[in-house]
Amino acid sequence: MPELPEVETTRRGVAPYSEGQRITEVIVRDHRLRWPVPDNLSSRAGGQTITAVRRRAKYLLFDTDAGTLLVHLGMSGSLRVMSPTDTLLKHDHIDLVFENGRCLRYNDPRRFGCWLWLKPGEPHPLLTHLGPEPLSDDFNGEYLYQRSRGRKAPIKQFLMDGKVVVGVGNIYANEALFLSGIAPSRAAGRISLARYRRLVDNVKQVLTSAITQGGTTLRDFVGGDGKPGYFAQQLYVYGRAGQPCKACGSELRESRLGQRTSVYCVTCQR
Ligand SMILES: [Zn+2]
Repeated sequence: MPELPEVETTRRGVAPYSEGQRITEVIVRDHRLRWPVPDNLSSRAGGQTITAVRRRAKYLLFDTDAGTLLVHLGMSGSLRVMSPTDTLLKHDHIDLVFENGRCLRYNDPRRFGCWLWLKPGEPHPLLTHLGPEPLSDDFNGEYLYQRSRGRKAPIKQFLMDGKVVVGVGNIYANEALFLSGIAPSRAAGRISLARYRRLVDNVKQVLTSAITQGGTTLRDFVGGDGKPGYFAQQLYVYGRAGQPCKACGSELRESRLGQRTSVYCVTCQR
């Protein structure tokens, strides 16, 4: 599933080919995404020029003067820069066609993604109530500390709550908690400011290193049959239950917290 680093890598991959480009049409071959792709998407977006490609949480936002195209990659979506005449692959559901003869082609086998149109300045329900971006200055130790007072929820669930901070998926929550020496089940309200400062540093570090790694795949966004890679990184705990801790050698344990698997070291994480 594309996590925040993959979405940010996608943004960086497609932005140079999209910004400043005039949209001629949106070809929708299958409307059945997570929500139906609006019938009038092509008439809304057609003729508009993309002024910026932004990201908020895991949403990609293609801004134009007449509104914003909102794209979410869902569980299995990907975008490639193609020519509209290139051979279609299975699950190539949408082409965003540009006047210069190129298009952004959207492939999504599981169809959990979405393509929606937002009117200018209209707050969209999907984007309101979102917490700060994890790589912004608004996400800092003091913020998490204040926000967590009185909260009994396990720190891992608290950290993965999009109203607290967006885009910290299961992999990154596991890794950042390990690096910070914090047990995933510890009550969020019982963690000190000093430990929250460390946790924030580690969240930023694991996300930044994943984005840096994604940078090596940027050329995969142009042409070809391949899909942009969702990159594997060096992981300390995620997916390593039963294996030795890389810091102390103890066997890593696994538990379920709020439907998600947590992997942690009982010696290193308290
Ligand atoms: Zn350990």
